[in-house]
Amino acid sequence: MNWLKQAQERQDELIKELQELVQIESVLDETTITSEAPFGEGPLKAMKWLLQKGEEQGLTTKNIDNMAGHIEMGQGEELVGILCHVDVVPAGSDWQHPPFGGVVEDGKLFGRGSIDDKGPTMAAWLAMKMVKDAGIQLDRRVRLIIGSDEETGFRCVTRYFEKEEMPTLGFAPDADFPIINAEKGIAVLVFSQQQKIAENEQLISFKAGHRTNMVPDNATAEIQNVSADFEAAFQIYLQQESLQGAIEKVSEVFIVSIKGKSAHAMEPNAGVNAAVKLAAFLNTQLTTTGSKEFVQFLVTAFGEETRGHALGLNFHDDMSGDTTLNAGVVSFESGKGGEVQVSLRYSVTYPYDEKITAAQQQLAKNGFALDIAENSAPHYVDEKEELIQKLVKVYERNTGEKAELLSIGGGTYARELKTGVAFGMLFPGEPDIAHQADEFVVVENLVKAAAIYADAIVELATK
Ligand SMILES: [Zn+2]
Repeated sequence: MNWLKQAQERQDELIKELQELVQIESVLDETTITSEAPFGEGPLKAMKWLLQKGEEQGLTTKNIDNMAGHIEMGQGEELVGILCHVDVVPAGSDWQHPPFGGVVEDGKLFGRGSIDDKGPTMAAWLAMKMVKDAGIQLDRRVRLIIGSDEETGFRCVTRYFEKEEMPTLGFAPDADFPIINAEKGIAVLVFSQQQKIAENEQLISFKAGHRTNMVPDNATAEIQNVSADFEAAFQIYLQQESLQGAIEKVSEVFIVSIKGKSAHAMEPNAGVNAAVKLAAFLNTQLTTTGSKEFVQFLVTAFGEETRGHALGLNFHDDMSGDTTLNAGVVSFESGKGGEVQVSLRYSVTYPYDEKITAAQQQLAKNGFALDIAENSAPHYVDEKEELIQKLVKVYERNTGEKAELLSIGGGTYARELKTGVAFGMLFPGEPDIAHQADEFVVVENLVKAAAIYADAIVELATK
């Protein structure tokens, strides 16, 4: 079957349907949330629109509590799942094109969701229709599973899999080609100071970062009762470290701030952690017990590197690389104490319980508690699995390129599947413009992806 030729012949249909879907503003909207529309009107409208398309094709559809749904075709005991989502992040500003327009220009279709994840969703949907129209006999059922809360907490798929069967195997067209088969575990660790902090500490407050998954690019502290050369020492430090910062004195309190460089927590080395830099300076200046203990902890734990050696949390394996730690949200208040929230991205074979327990015991001796606020286990599908073997064959056959298996520090939608991988649809070398202004999908690649997905559906659904 020449899937590419067929997809090219149906390009207009693909574009038209994608435009319709992009034009639905499916952003989570608190103001329109009702018991009927758990994530607001937009996401529900987008999901219903796609389910309606399924019905028009004479396929079985199901709506799970207005949160998620599916379109199913074929017969068989086992199930192939294609996991996608129709909700999008807010448009934001600085667009040159209407964010909910779906305008095609220079071979690109512009709009929020065009690459994350409405474009890939519609490519997979066209693939399903092509397989159906070709009348190919399948041994497994095929389901397009449609989430409407991927961007804001995965409540859609959580509910879906509480009520519906887990596919035997599947893929999520919500990341990169060729194949992402290893995703690190993601935990949020909270380190908190245990001793009673006095009211008259030198460090009055310390604040950096808003989210654990980003390297903080700004840190600010209020300081009192320090030596006369505090301000001069700060200027020297900035110069030595080639950092930008500011200092001002308001009555008897110094307000100091340092600029860092933001980066995603999956590689903290790509950024400069402003909290750690500010703590390193304060560590040379502060002497009162609670203040000193806090900044010293930051410097010892995160000052040298981001792999957690000082905390004993470091680990590496060949399939997924280094475990990384990002001190993303840092705070201290006099009278209360300090807290550091860390995004831990741990390797697939990480001895999690052992490592965390050992760190907790060690930290307790140093006056800090370690708690786990969130934990999502690593996701890994062995290359010997049928799923990988088949997708490798499909990718190589359709692109002529080697299908490298990728490992990432972030989480994709595929981790919601038991045996599932992320499979497209950004091709190697393409810029990732998801969540940015003027998000677009290259029409030629959209068509190419539809052909790859059609081939993958047939391959996975036949034994
Ligand atoms: Zn997505």
